[in-house]
Amino acid sequence: MFNYDNQNGWPNKLGHYQSPIDLSSTDSINYDDNLAISSDMYYQLTEEINDGNTIRLLGHGNATIFNRKFTFQQLHFHLPSEHTIDGKTHPLEIHLVHTNEIGQTVVVAIMVNKGNSNPDIQSIINHFNNNVEQPVNISTNQWIPSLAKGFHYLGSLTTPPLTEGVEWLVITNAAITVSESQLQWFHNNFKHNNRKTQPLFERKVELYK
Ligand SMILES: [Zn+2]
Repeated sequence: MFNYDNQNGWPNKLGHYQSPIDLSSTDSINYDDNLAISSDMYYQLTEEINDGNTIRLLGHGNATIFNRKFTFQQLHFHLPSEHTIDGKTHPLEIHLVHTNEIGQTVVVAIMVNKGNSNPDIQSIINHFNNNVEQPVNISTNQWIPSLAKGFHYLGSLTTPPLTEGVEWLVITNAAITVSESQLQWFHNNFKHNNRKTQPLFERKVELYK
């Protein structure tokens, strides 16, 4: 476990490709197209863990991301969002971590707005058991939109060891929303767990809109 109130103390010997970042809709390279991601029907969460900093859910499923095959590994939550868009924070950000056979990592981030209660997130809340791994059976094949819009850039893990070379897709048009009481539940259990935004340096960000 690591302390979000002491982020300057996190070991970081890397440097110029860190995440999260502020995503600018005006300074990005614009494409009149969708983010190139399609997930199969078998996105499934199978196990729920409280790792002290967040709820982590392990699962399986496959996605094609910019013409490469990836396997879904786990998802977890950040409250409030880690990425900001034109300086604006979302109340919740979900990270779906994917890897492939040659060791590449893609994190698909879903920016979540406040709205209706989400039944999948409610099921995750209902299965929460503070120190016990819980088996779950939750389908997430609706979480990634079939016509996804948003940002694409190269960054890092947002938790130690902050490893770089991580590819990010930040989806801005997902249908998932969370209710005020669901947000309150996350806040009561995890307070806040968002890394501060990092400098962009010379990186280029793509926006698919
Ligand atoms: Zn994360």
